[in-house]
Amino acid sequence: MRGAMTMADLLHSLRQALGSAGVETGADRLRYFASDVYRTGGLPLAAVRPATVEALQEAVRLCAAAGVAMVPRGGGASYTDGYVRPEGGHVLIDTGALDAIMIDETNAVVTAGAGVTWANLKTALEAKGLRTPFWGPFSGLAATVGGSMSQNTLSHGSTAHGISAQSVIGFDVVLANGDLLTTNACDAMRWYGPDLTGLFTGDCGAFGIKARVRLPLLPVLAEAVPVSFAFDSFADYHAGVRAAQIARLDDSHFGLDLALSQGQIARQEGMGARLKIALQVMQNAPSRLKGLASLVKMAIAGENPMRAGQYMCHFIVEGFDAGDAAHKARQLRRIVGRHGREIANTVPTFVRSVPFAPLFNILGPGGERWVPVHGVLTHDRAVAFNDAFHALLAARKAEMDRLGVWTGTMFSPVGPSGFLYEIALYWPDARTDYHLTTLGADYIAGLADFPANPEAAACADDLKEAIVDLFQQFGAGHFQIGRAYPYRARLPERASGLLAAVKRELDPDGLMNPGALGL
Ligand SMILES: Cc1cc2nc3c(=O)[nH]c(=O)nc-3n(C[C@H](O)[C@H](O)[C@H](O)COP(=O)(O)OP(=O)(O)OC[C@H]3O[C@@H](n4cnc5c(N)ncnc54)[C@H](O)[C@@H]3O)c2cc1C
Repeated sequence: MRGAMTMADLLHSLRQALGSAGVETGADRLRYFASDVYRTGGLPLAAVRPATVEALQEAVRLCAAAGVAMVPRGGGASYTDGYVRPEGGHVLIDTGALDAIMIDETNAVVTAGAGVTWANLKTALEAKGLRTPFWGPFSGLAATVGGSMSQNTLSHGSTAHGISAQSVIGFDVVLANGDLLTTNACDAMRWYGPDLTGLFTGDCGAFGIKARVRLPLLPVLAEAVPVSFAFDSFADYHAGVRAAQIARLDDSHFGLDLALSQGQIARQEGMGARLKIALQVMQNAPSRLKGLASLVKMAIAGENPMRAGQYMCHFIVEGFDAGDAAHKARQLRRIVGRHGREIANTVPTFVRSVPFAPLFNILGPGGERWVPVHGVLTHDRAVAFNDAFHALLAARKAEMDRLGVWTGTMFSPVGPSGFLYEIALYWPDARTDYHLTTLGADYIAGLADFPANPEAAACADDLKEAIVDLFQQFGAGHFQIGRAYPYRARLPERASGLLAAVKRELDPDGLMNPGALGL
């Protein structure tokens, strides 16, 4: 605390500015806000939830005057310690109430409050036949536009349009002293001079708190052909998707190994969810007849596509009309079919109908703990990395088997030239307040219970660190750096100095998410 100000003074001022409902200090709520999907940090002093940009600015000014660290949080769906501060004692700024959506059809721009979820943005835009180019991660029921832009995110729309950072025109950012900075000097575009908007993409909140995000708009392409392939080896998988990434015929695709297909994804498609999915397939199909046709195909295919090969890739190909989509799908079959075989398209049909599933996957298929770790590789290193990763697993197999630690892998495109290799780690261990609050007591009660298991947790943590090291040896880059991935050490000296100078300029007292990005 700065000067004569006490914590009680700060909380009193925050309550005056935001109202009592906008300032939470209850022990169980603070415990929830101290954890992300993976790790638990120190307790915040308070969690504040400003409802307007002006209220956010005022809250930041008060924290700055008190010399108290501020940590922004969107939907909280991350797992790289981005909003988890080990020391605690910060004010956590929950952006969830900054949820306004302003659609400017004339100029093909939407301005979203930072706390708008991707699911709500999709609903609002779809009513007008519109979408953003990148349109959200699988966690989009919880994940916010501001959170995704702050840590670099990919999935829906990413083959055709790239990652979150490629779908933004500008930000309004509240800086560490409460000032509001607009990053684009011109309403029509982002690139008027050096890219100041780009500076704030992937900053993990270290440079300021995004209050509003402006994104470009496209028409929704109503016709889609979901296509799936199975591959017998990782080398075949990679050869097929490398060609697909370069051809850019699909809107989105993702790949899974057998372990993940049978575990996490099969569970999403499990019996309990069938009825709901069927309803959504029908609702989202362009016509009832097409919906029925999709359902019949899914029923005939059963769950066999989950077990059709060692690796599977699922594509969603979109078109202006049925002919356009079918033409692109034919090209894709020609390109990818050289390396694998086509299988029933149950998984992409499901994902198109339910693009944002509830966050059941924050726990494993047996209720175990879960954390993903990823790296973005150049194509020429993907197969060698895969071999090295499997050698790493083989060396640790006995210990992992003894402790019940296991892994699965998932893959995504990063433009034509980057291959995202993601490894999900699972281990039997107790859940945190994050899991209990996110999934609810009823859902948790239906799962196997696990006592605290420090040995298994340490094994998983050590494996995670070893995988990050391995990615680094293969020159991989990372999204969602938070406090989990190395970054500054990878920058050349002048670039690292520039980053530090930007931080000093924007946040001279180091109060804005200290530690994120290694700053
Ligand atoms: C089940 C599941 C599925 C997932 N699927 C995907 C996927 O398909 N693709 C993918 O890339 N990731 C995925 N993720 C990871 C994660 O959900 C996304 O990266 C998502 O974008 C995080 O958004 P959020 O709003 O939850 O951010 P948070 O977790 O709240 O925050 C992330 C980081 O951004 C900062 N931050 C948040 N809001 C702001 C703001 N307004 N201004 C400045 N900084 C801010 C935080 O301090 C933190 O450092 C998944 C996670 C889960 C649990």
